[in-house]
Parts: sequence; structure tokens; C-alpha cells
Amino acid sequence: MCDSTCCAEAAAHSRRSFLRSSLAAALAVAAGGALPGGLALARTASPPKPQNVLDPDAALARLTEGNARYVSGVTRRHDFAHERPALAAGQNPYAAVLGCADSRVVPEYAFDCARGDLFVTRVAGNFVNVDMLGSLEYSVAVLGVPLILVLGHDKCGAVAAAVKAVTESAQYPGRIPSLVSAIAPAVQKVQDGGGDLLAAATAQNVRDNVAALAERSTILGDAVRAGKLRLAGAVYRLDTGRVEFLG
Ligand SMILES: [Zn+2]
Repeated sequence: MCDSTCCAEAAAHSRRSFLRSSLAAALAVAAGGALPGGLALARTASPPKPQNVLDPDAALARLTEGNARYVSGVTRRHDFAHERPALAAGQNPYAAVLGCADSRVVPEYAFDCARGDLFVTRVAGNFVNVDMLGSLEYSVAVLGVPLILVLGHDKCGAVAAAVKAVTESAQYPGRIPSLVSAIAPAVQKVQDGGGDLLAAATAQNVRDNVAALAERSTILGDAVRAGKLRLAGAVYRLDTGRVEFLG
């Protein structure tokens, strides 16, 4: 006879087993192994968008070309209807983006992309936290994304708040301090460098988070070392729409 405590323990054990097998599968992929079990369904033999099967450099070139179309105002027509059946069966985006939540910086527009092209995670201030990292690990280990772009932008309110916190000891309500504390280290690194502190902090925040992806994730770090993944950083210019990649 099984009481409710016993059932709860069994359920917890089942969850732990699932998480262990999922993690093992992800690590196997990162190490170049096969996809076992249910995760195999995520990457099918015939990808829904064959044109998205790119190596890291080609993926970066495609982002650059899409942004050039966006800047010039000559974007492609994206007719979603004909893509729906293929995308209902799966996804194989050619790049992942860690971007800001700012309403003016929309990766799919900025790179003239359609559905199924970009795996986008957004948070005000475009920084890595544990949930962002898990999402991006999924995009690489399960979906096979060859490129992750950290995309900051000028006049970022979150970075500006961190600048004010560092230079003027500004205080913020609610959970906003959580954003500020994540960005503040980038501000502190460049605050004595002179020039436009907001612009310098924005670029530094992008660079720090590009580095954090490989440093904080074995899955991403191993994929980079295996040549399967490229990490890049860029800043979006609000006045032109141009995405400037950081060296
Ligand atoms: Zn922003």
C-alpha cells in the first residue's frame, strides 16, 4: 500500500532521473555524441529549414547581411504561412541572441529574419543569468545552434541605471536592483577610462557576457573548443539600426 508520502518520493525520484538523463544527453551532444531518447526528436534528420544548417562563420555572415538589408530599408518579405508545417515539426535556428528587453531593439527585425531563424533570449541589460545560460545551452546542445550573439545597444536604460548606481549611489525599487547588480561590474571596470561612460559600460557589459558564456558553461565552452560554436558581441545603434560587432 502506497501512502501519499511514498508517491511524492517516487515522483521526486522520477524527476531527478529525468533531469539526470536530460543533462547526460545534453553533455553527450556537446561532446559530439548522439542524441538519445526524447531529445532526438528536437533535431530531426531533415531539418525544417535546411538553409539554416551553417557553420559558425557563415552564420555570422548571414546576420551581417541581414542587418545590412535592415539598415538600408530593403528587407525581405516574410510569408509565414508556407513555413508553418515545417516549423510545427521542429526548429533549427542558425543563431542565438542574448539581447536587451528594450522595445526598440528587436533581433528578428534587426537581422531581417523569419520565424525559426533566431533563438532569442532577452533581459533588460542583456546579461547572463542561470536561466539565460540554461536556455542558451539548450539551443546549442539540442538544437545545434552554431553562433551566440550578445547584443547590447546604445542608450540602454538598464546600463544607465547601473551607471547611476555606481557613480551616484542611486537606489531603485522592487527587483530592479537585481538587474543593476548584474551590470555594475562592467561599469566599475571602465568608470575611470574617461569619455562616454554609458557607451563604454555598454560595450564592456557585452564583452563580459560573451566571456561569461564560455566561462560559466561547460557545454558552451566545450562546443567553442570543438569549433562547433562561435561567440560574438555587438552593439545596436538606435539611430541607424546598424549592428556594430565588437572585436
Ligand atoms: Zn537596454
